[in-house]
Formats: sequence, structure tokens, C-alpha cells
Amino acid sequence: MRQLTYVGGTRIEWWDVPEPKLQKDGDAIVAPLAVTRCDLDLTIAGGKSGLPGPFALGHETAGRVVDVGAAVRNFVPGDLVIVPFQISCGECASCRRGHTNACTSVPFRSSYGLKPVCGVEYGGALSDLIRVPFADHMLVRQPKGHALSQTAGLADGATDGFSAVANWLKQRPGEEVLVIGGFGQSLSMFAVQAAVSRGARRVVYLDDDPARLAKAKSLGAEVHEAPKGLAMDPIGRFPIVIDAAATDASILLAFRSAEPNGICQRMYGDFNETTPVPLRHMYGVGITFRVSRVNVRADMPECLKHVECGHFHPERVITRRVRFEDAHEAIGDPTIRVAFVRDGVD
Ligand SMILES: [Zn+2]
Ligand SMILES: [Zn+2]
Repeated sequence: MRQLTYVGGTRIEWWDVPEPKLQKDGDAIVAPLAVTRCDLDLTIAGGKSGLPGPFALGHETAGRVVDVGAAVRNFVPGDLVIVPFQISCGECASCRRGHTNACTSVPFRSSYGLKPVCGVEYGGALSDLIRVPFADHMLVRQPKGHALSQTAGLADGATDGFSAVANWLKQRPGEEVLVIGGFGQSLSMFAVQAAVSRGARRVVYLDDDPARLAKAKSLGAEVHEAPKGLAMDPIGRFPIVIDAAATDASILLAFRSAEPNGICQRMYGDFNETTPVPLRHMYGVGITFRVSRVNVRADMPECLKHVECGHFHPERVITRRVRFEDAHEAIGDPTIRVAFVRDGVD
């Protein structure tokens, strides 16, 4: 079968590799039909991730079940599904706690399309087929009347960006949200959408990039253009601050933009070993700081609910749609978000 492979540097190629087979009774085989590009994929494609190739690329997908093991009860071939990018069993203590990003049945950080972070090649979404372990738990049914290219992003970025903000707004309903956008460029947009749709009184988006500012504005944010590199003073004090720019400058700006007892969440990681954290300031102001990877499988149903009822539109963040076959070329496009879609698929 064909597999889009990150070789190294900026080299990305379609490789012929053996098809994945059912390995256990609980496995399923899924054909990815729509894939969206995660912000991390763009970094990988640009040769800036530090992740050594070769490995299979792509980890946000919705597709069709083509085969299931004898123990799979909830799905049959032909079913349309969303495939969370993190592998989780649904049964270990960590999964039962909702920490599906740290399932203890598989190596830590087990994921599609990211072999170097977990040490296991699970395959990538930009392939003809992928194997899904723990299929009854892992797979999420595609809602009727929605496009696969709309839901594919829920496999990672859309759920990540949405749940980060939605979870804080549950604790602090109606509060103002500041999103500092940049490096996690589609995550920033999902965070904006979440804040708007979950009832934030005011949603402010700060960035130094005109295209991203325009997109955030179209999604309902009040936008502020920042000087290059975010070398600036805070534009105000906010109870909830999301740093999706993911630089040292942006996190320091986020801390300074938090009001007393405010919340800062850092979306995504940059690739510095260490980042200065001003604990004295944070103590004085009383900042709660969260930096974490998403628990995709646990958080997806809530997120999907808001897609189904029309409050959350991951497809509006997509700025370029291409044929699946053209993924090798389009994966490095700096545009905000790319969708790779099989012919004849929505
Ligand atoms: Zn991702
Ligand atoms: Zn588990």
C-alpha cells in the first residue's frame, strides 16, 4: 500500500509498504478517507521538529472500517469512524480516569504518525490503511450528515483546542478569553471558536500574522495585531489566557496578561529544552498554569456533541483542501490548515 513517509530533513515521499494486518481480536483496519494536517505536521514537514525519520505521517483522520477482529462488537466493515491519534485501551486505570493520553497498556505517548515520540510505528493517517487496536474503545462513530473532512480534525487538533478552552469556561462561565496565536496556528483558531461558542463574554485574539488575524476575525474574535515576535506590553488583563503561539516570548506575555487568580494554558510545545517561568510573578498574581497534551479519546465525545449541534465548525479553520494523492506537496504549505481528501469524499 501507499504510505506518506517523512524521510528526514524536508524530504517527504510516498513509500510502498506492507498493508497492516489484524494482530489481535480487538483490532480493526480502517481506510483513512479524510485527513487534516496538525500544526505539528507542518513543523515536521519543514524539518524543524527534531523528530528523526523515517516514519509514517498523518494522525488526524476519519475513514471507513474495512475489517474487524473476532472480538470487535461495536463496529462492522463499512462503518464510518473517527480515529483518535493517541492509542488507548479504555480499560487501564489511566484510561478510566480519562487520561487516555497516558494509557498504560501501550508505550507512553503511543500515537499514529509520530513514531519517534513513542518508539512504535503505528502507521500514519496518510496511508491506504491503518490498524486500530482496542477498536471498540478507540473508534468514534462518524455522525450522520457531517463531512469526514469536518470531523477528521477531532482526532487531535480540534479536540485539543476546543476542550482546552471549553473546560476552563465550564469552571468560569462567561469569562473573557485571550488567545495568543502563532506557532499552533490551527489550535489558536479552535481555541477562538471554543471561546465564542461556549459563551465567553469577550474573545480577543493577538498575533503578528495578518492571515491568521483575518481568520480569527472571521471566526468571531476581536483581533489585535502584535509587533513581530510579540515584543510588547499586555493589551489588558484576562481571566483566561491561551498561549498557542508557543514561544518563550508568548508564554511570558501570557503570564503578564493574566488577571489576579487568572488561568494560563500553554497549547502545544515548542522545542526548547527549557523555558523561563517567572514563578515570583505567578505567585504574586495567583496564576494557575496548565501545560499538557490533550486526552483525545476522553474529550472527543463532548467536542463532537458541539459539532453535531452546529456550535463548533472545525471545517472553518481549513484554508486549503487537496486530493489525498497530493499530500506530499501540500503538507508543507504554510497556510493555516490543510485537508487531504479522497476523491468523492466530503
Ligand atoms: Zn497533532
Ligand atoms: Zn489504557
